[in-house]
Formats: sequence, C-alpha cells, structure tokens
Amino acid sequence: MSGVTLTKAVKKYGDLEVIHGVDLQIEHGEFCVFVGPSGCGKSTLLRMIAGLEETTDGRIEIGGRDVTKTDPAERGVAMVFQTYALYPHMTVEENMGFGLKMNGHPKAEIQSKVAEASRILKLDPYLKRKPKALSGGQRQRVAIGRAIVRGPEVFLFDEPLSNLDAELRVDMRVEIARLHKDIGATMIYVTHDQVEAMTLADKIVVLRGGNIEQVGSPMQLYSDPDNRFVAGFIGSPS
Ligand code: ADP
Ligand code: MG
Repeated sequence: MSGVTLTKAVKKYGDLEVIHGVDLQIEHGEFCVFVGPSGCGKSTLLRMIAGLEETTDGRIEIGGRDVTKTDPAERGVAMVFQTYALYPHMTVEENMGFGLKMNGHPKAEIQSKVAEASRILKLDPYLKRKPKALSGGQRQRVAIGRAIVRGPEVFLFDEPLSNLDAELRVDMRVEIARLHKDIGATMIYVTHDQVEAMTLADKIVVLRGGNIEQVGSPMQLYSDPDNRFVAGFIGSPS
C-alpha cells in the first residue's frame, strides 16, 4: 500500500516560507491533482514528496514509511516533468532502460520492463529511434515510459502536457487515465488546466499561497466550493 501523507509540511527557501504547514492524505491508488495559481507551491510540494526539495519542517510518509529524510531514489516514486529531458544520443529503448541500467539491473529484466512499458504506451515502433526523430507527444510518452520502467509505487507528474498542442493534450490525457487504470498506482498530478483536473482526478487539492484552500472530489468542488477562489478555479458560478 502506498498512500502519501503530509503532516504539517513546511518549505522555506532561506527565510522565505513558501509552504506553510500542509496536512494532506492521499490514498493508495488515488489520482490526486494539485491545482492553483502560478507560484502557489504546486511544484514545490511535488518536489518535496519526490525528495528533490528538502522538507524544512513536518513529515512526509509514503506507504506508512517516514521518508522525510530519505533519498529520492529510495522513496519508491518516479517523476515526469514538463520538459522531457531525454538523452539525445540514446535511443528510445536506451532512454527508458537507463535508470535501471545505472542501478545495475540485469539486461534481461531491463528488456522485459522496457517491452512492457512500450506496449502500454504504444511505443514499440519507435524503440530504435533517437528523441529528435519523435514528435512531442511521442517524447512525452518516452518520459512516462521511463517512469513506468522503474516500477514506482507513486507517480508524480508536474504539468506533463503543458508543452503539447491542444489536440495532443487530449490524447495524452486519455492515455494517462488509462495508465492509471491499468497499473493502479498512486498518482499525484500538477496542472493549471481545469479540464485535466476535472477529468483525471479522484481528488483535487486547491492550493493558494502555500496553503491548501480545499480538498475534494471534482464533483464536491464543483457543486460545493468553500469560497469564490475555489469556485473560480473549478469553474462553477458561485
Ligand atoms: P507553482 O509550481 O505552483 O507555480 P512553485 O512551487 O514553483 O509554484 O513556487 C512556489 C513559491 O516558491 C514561489 O513563490 C516561488 O517563487 C518560490 N520558489 C520556488 N523555487 C524556489 C527557489 N529555488 N528559491 C526560492 N524561491 C523559490
Ligand atoms: Mg510549477
């Protein structure tokens, strides 16, 4: 089981506190979406869960394990970024398997995991290509494939589709929903796209200025927003 629990989580950059003691419970297998205006702390919170930012105060648990001080590689998480950050000189296959190779996994195991990820993401025809010979959507699929191959308990996505054009965003959104259904892992997904939030989320977390404004299902936030700010984000006239 791999729920994620934040308890009074605080982030300071020097003297500047940007996350002000956040309490949040994300259940195992849940698709949780963070929304909120630019600069409200979505990426920071995600990076704290990933271990890419130190948590200044409070606690982070994954699967009941206190990981507040744990290395990113030991947390059982994999992050997919907005910029794909693929290695240009490696093929799709090599890009996806690279993390496991670095960790010394056997070749046969890497091959079977890459094969499975490419089946899920329909990347089979492209395995021998270099990133420059791929479309934006295909590159983003490779970036997601790289996360799948690592077999994380928790997937973290930071605006993974915001560099894609509108049509492709819809396709990829459907694929991410299918991926969640297929593998059933806990997913935490940052977006500023209200449609993505409403269609993907089991639970939406509305952030504002480093605090949680409201947490609820898309229906709850839509039909019963706590305030105008939440209503404005979810698009219900209040
Ligand atoms: P979001 O992803 O919601 O747009 P961020 O998490 O990136 O917001 O940023 C939250 C706040 O933290 C912002 O005020 C931002 O300026 C600040 N911040 C982010 N990273 C740093 C950093 N490395 N040093 C100082 N301040 C930072
Ligand atoms: Mg951000």
